[in-house]
Amino acid sequence: MKCPNCGTEMENNYVLRLGLSGAIKIEKQRNIELQSFLPKILVCPNCGKVDIYVDIQSV
Ligand SMILES: [Zn+2]
Repeated sequence: MKCPNCGTEMENNYVLRLGLSGAIKIEKQRNIELQSFLPKILVCPNCGKVDIYVDIQSV
């Protein structure tokens, strides 16, 4: 998927995590098996835009 801002190919191997303090963090994904249960995160390496979406078919 291309970034809507700058057209760079976005990286999609990120996950959203809730920290202990309640802060939301975006991290590089390590455990592929968790992927289908979490919202998908796309990060643009060029401009930093973050997109979040859910795979409807796995909900
Ligand atoms: Zn971008």
